[in-house]
Amino acid sequence: MTRDQPIELKAGGTNAIGRTLGLLADEWTLLVLRQALSGETRYSQFKEALPISNSVLTSRLTRLTEQGLLERHVYQDRPVRAEYLTTRRSRTLSVGMLTLSDWEKRWTPDGIGDEAVARHPACGRDASPVLTCRACRMPATARDVVAEWGPSGSWRRSSPEAVTRRRPELRVGATTSLESRQAMMLFGDRWSAAVICAAFRGVRRFTDFEANLSAPPAVVSHRLKVLGSIGVLTATQDGQRSHRAEHRLTEKGHGLFPVLSAFGDWSERWFAAPEGPALIQTHRPCGERFLPRFRCGHCEGTLPDTDLR
Ligand SMILES: [Zn+2]
Ligand SMILES: [Zn+2]
Repeated sequence: MTRDQPIELKAGGTNAIGRTLGLLADEWTLLVLRQALSGETRYSQFKEALPISNSVLTSRLTRLTEQGLLERHVYQDRPVRAEYLTTRRSRTLSVGMLTLSDWEKRWTPDGIGDEAVARHPACGRDASPVLTCRACRMPATARDVVAEWGPSGSWRRSSPEAVTRRRPELRVGATTSLESRQAMMLFGDRWSAAVICAAFRGVRRFTDFEANLSAPPAVVSHRLKVLGSIGVLTATQDGQRSHRAEHRLTEKGHGLFPVLSAFGDWSERWFAAPEGPALIQTHRPCGERFLPRFRCGHCEGTLPDTDLR
């Protein structure tokens, strides 16, 4: 695999969305990656920053290296010591990681006061990302963007391709600093991430989530409950039958659109299905294909897609 080239996917197989969910929708993977993008390279630095076990850290570093997001570089022979360097593939996730922490800052009750901020190199201010349309340069929200499946798109092909053994349950309830990181928690779980993606595609009912995601009913109902308790989805009852309830994105839920846009753009850039993209979006106001571009909330300059530390 050439690190700067997209990974070629098999015709008819899991598409870019499913591969990205399978690879990144894992809480430890996101946390390790965030530390790596903030400049940490050594095993001991990751251990110091995260309450992570040796086996979990080793498995995540190995997988990130196999997938071309980190590069293992031996800097000492006896004893062997290696460092893990970011690659272009992982550095282009910088803006996506920034949208995650920006959402947390806006929508998590306790905020994240002591969080190191990413600076926009051009103006030196806290790089608060504003999602805009690459074609017309106007700010964009989920309500202005229409999505349709592209040639490699379908529910089946977008289903998260599991690459790690999962925790049995998604944790709920903010008790430690890590657990109060709602965005990490939501996108660190492949099923809750998949439910959020489906909600943005207009899926509302339990049975449709279940059928479209090919997920076990208990998993779907648990994730809907968590997303409801966090206030990302709200359920409207239709009659007395809970399975007929409609689950709709709240304002807080709609606030996740920049996150989906950033990670969606990354996925199509780095995973190439032979048929073409999984999703084709149109920006309604200008009528052009919607591709995200992020600009700085302070100076309005374009944020680089890499190296926002
Ligand atoms: Zn536009
Ligand atoms: Zn700026």
